[in-house]
This record gives sequence, C-alpha cells and structure tokens, in this order.
Amino acid sequence: MKPTCTKCKGSESPSSVERLNAGYWICHECLTVFKNSKIGRPTIGKPRQVKITLPDSDWQHIEALIASGRVASYAEYFRDLHASSLTKLLEV
Ligand SMILES: [Zn+2]
Repeated sequence: MKPTCTKCKGSESPSSVERLNAGYWICHECLTVFKNSKIGRPTIGKPRQVKITLPDSDWQHIEALIASGRVASYAEYFRDLHASSLTKLLEV
C-alpha cells in the first residue's frame, strides 16, 4: 500500500507517489521526498560504511543536532541529507 504524500496529502493525485528506495517515497505532484512512517518495521536497506572527512566544526554541528534530539543519529542525519539531495536533483 502506498503512503500518502506528507506535503500535498495526495490531493492532486494520490497515485503519483512512487517508491524511491527502502523507506523513502517521492510525490511527483509536489516533488517531495518523504519517509514512510506508517509501516511498522520498514527495511531501510543495506548498510555500507562510508568514511567522510569534515572539519571539526561540522562534526560538532551534527553532534549538536543529535544531542538536541533533532536528529536521531549520524546515519539518520546523512539519510535525511540524501533524501533532500534527491529532491534537489529532481527540481533541476
Ligand atoms: Zn505531494
């Protein structure tokens, strides 16, 4: 079953929601990428270790987001970033 777009609520065309990858969906009406939060235990996908070099200040920024509870973890931060970059690419 397809989830409902979190932005336009499928008001234009509910069937325009398409699965991008595990846990992420895109609405072709408003080009919103969102996480499917309805299904109890979604398959997130395959884990892959990535080594990322960032300035200390950037890591501190991410750590502050995690500490404040706005982001659950490093993985969650980069998953969200990935989802928004998909949105950006589709807007071009
Ligand atoms: Zn939408």
